[in-house]
Amino acid sequence: MIIDTHAHLDFPEYKTDLESVLLRAREAGIGSIINVGTSLATSKKCIALAHRFENIYVSVGIHPHDASRVSEQTWHELELLLGESKIVAIGETGLDYYRNKSPHEAQQALFEKHLALAKKHNLPVIIHCRDASDDCLKILNKYKNGALKGVVHCFSGTKETAKECLDMGLFLSFAGPITFKNAQNLREVAKTVPVERLLLETDCPFLAPHPKRGERNEPSYLSFVIPVFAEIYGLSPDDIVRITSFNAYTLFGIGEPVPEGEIAYAIRNSLYINLTNRCSMECSFCMRTSYPIVKGHNLHLKREPATEEVLGAIGDPGRYDEIVFCGYGEPTERLDVLKAVAADLKSKGKRIRLDTNGHGDLINGRSIANELKGLIDTICISLNAETAEKYTAICKPVFGEKAYPAMLQFIKDAKKVIPNVQVSVVEIPDIDIEKCRKIAMDLGVDFRIRKYNVLG
Ligand code: SF4
Ligand SMILES: [Zn+2]
Repeated sequence: MIIDTHAHLDFPEYKTDLESVLLRAREAGIGSIINVGTSLATSKKCIALAHRFENIYVSVGIHPHDASRVSEQTWHELELLLGESKIVAIGETGLDYYRNKSPHEAQQALFEKHLALAKKHNLPVIIHCRDASDDCLKILNKYKNGALKGVVHCFSGTKETAKECLDMGLFLSFAGPITFKNAQNLREVAKTVPVERLLLETDCPFLAPHPKRGERNEPSYLSFVIPVFAEIYGLSPDDIVRITSFNAYTLFGIGEPVPEGEIAYAIRNSLYINLTNRCSMECSFCMRTSYPIVKGHNLHLKREPATEEVLGAIGDPGRYDEIVFCGYGEPTERLDVLKAVAADLKSKGKRIRLDTNGHGDLINGRSIANELKGLIDTICISLNAETAEKYTAICKPVFGEKAYPAMLQFIKDAKKVIPNVQVSVVEIPDIDIEKCRKIAMDLGVDFRIRKYNVLG
């Protein structure tokens, strides 16, 4: 389900038809909505709405526009609201030097108060920053250590500002303007934000997306925004929904946790098969034990699935362009299951790829390339380093010094029987990419560079 992380449904624009707005939201697949307070009065209205509607959650805060009008009493009352249920964030707060409705000093002081309050209650902050990036970052830097977590909503800054926010652990969200025809720059900025840090929002009633630009915005209009993000990230709309909902769950604790142990999981038009979490390496960049989440899928297996379970999880493979044996673990640890599943899929005419660390021979105690002939169309082997020493240091193979030469031998054997063979390296500073490229060229196989921390 889609999560709209920033709405103002308590505003007068919805006075007469809120129920129909919420019905349209549900029909468009919106699961939960965070209604964001901009003053003490609207924060109270947000709470009242959350009591009325099950899928509405609340953020309480005072907008920087009103900073000069916040008395001690108002702030005290706002703090008292935190005792209410369904409050998932503090804000919106921040700095707005575009409208300049309150003096900068008053805005900064109020922003700091919100950040301190959020930390005290271990809640995320919803940050509004307009034409004030430098001061915003300066203040956020003061609070970044410890429990600062939050989102810069309706992000409109530069790539550099985005990076600083990301480095602090913040999420970013973009509203309707990301869809505007003249917003190419903003889309370029969004491209630099890992999808794992992206949230969806409308900021309704403001900022309606194309083709509703200029009209009153509403949560169901996220259906115009999601395809644009799919395009930006080269993912499917389903991927965007799943990942951003997982992100909202991570930050605000709303929605559903992703189920553990996905055996077959879709990303774009490919279906990935997760046979095992066992692996004969412990690569320094691998997150399989610490954080086994890939594009909103939880790959931690409680137990390894049998062939029938795998085929059951795949179901009808018709709609996928390619089936990939991958997951967080080494597929050739389960060679028999891999072969049986691949044979079934091949009989249905599917294109099949195997992502492997190339230790299949060592794991199974025999040369296995021939056994994959006719079953696998493309094989992608992790080369990972230009020398055996570096490989052993970075990947810590359980087979020790034997691993690197065995992996190279496997590449040569695979080349004889598999139509497409490629090797990959992860872009980390220790690796000499050009030397790795030369090894691939000498072996006569394709070469692929994978970005550090980008999975799936
Ligand atoms: S080969 Fe893959 S699964 Fe195994 S440790 Fe390295 S990155 Fe992780
Ligand atoms: Zn807002």
